[in-house]
Amino acid sequence: MKDARRTISRKSLRTRIAALEGLPVCVLPFCGRPTMNAAGNGVALFHCRRHVEHKARHGSHWHGTYSAAELKPYLAAATSYVRHRSEIDPFIKAALNTIALLLEEAGPTEIATRLKGMPATKRARIALARLRVAGIKPERIVAIVLAVTALIEEDPGSHRTKEFRTVQIAKALHRLASGYHRVWELQDERGQLKKVAELHAFPRSSGPVLRLIGKAVEQPCEWVVEKHLSAVLALKVKRYGRHPALPAGA
Ligand SMILES: [Zn+2]
Repeated sequence: MKDARRTISRKSLRTRIAALEGLPVCVLPFCGRPTMNAAGNGVALFHCRRHVEHKARHGSHWHGTYSAAELKPYLAAATSYVRHRSEIDPFIKAALNTIALLLEEAGPTEIATRLKGMPATKRARIALARLRVAGIKPERIVAIVLAVTALIEEDPGSHRTKEFRTVQIAKALHRLASGYHRVWELQDERGQLKKVAELHAFPRSSGPVLRLIGKAVEQPCEWVVEKHLSAVLALKVKRYGRHPALPAGA
């Protein structure tokens, strides 16, 4: 019954989209490829397949994922900012508690091969559990949310949308835990070593999973960002200078 309803609504959605006027070519400058709608292979009215896929991976049709090096000064500033206030600032304290609970309640992890075919919500939950198992502390997660937000805020060439921020936060978390690999080994009856399970924090995540992970950690940090973003950015500028794309001293 549920499935039937879903099919009907998807069908009517398609009819409605077909009735809309799309563009013949992708809106991005210098692209020139047909939109997915015009090419008859998707519902995207204004973008080509390549740029739609780019958005799924990076959270923006055109802006790529920030490198660890680009994020580094922001993360360093945010980390020390959060560390010095984790006990005294009520907003930071509340965010840390909520994220600690989020990691705790994420439940058990699952080995990568079993993730296939699981719904995105479950995969996102498991990704959070993996952060916990990898020993990533809530302080680090709050610092990442602040750092990514500060970078997007200062970089004049950034893509300032909520979705880009969400995905970039998830990507930064991803990178943080992706170096974490653990193998459980047991001995069998004859005393021979048997590999039991491997855990690689973060197997490659799909677009929807990235967005769910990002949102899950962003939400508890809303007040922290509201209250502390400008101070974190000021600390970063004081210690490491302004963003390289900004004119010096302006
Ligand atoms: Zn395009």
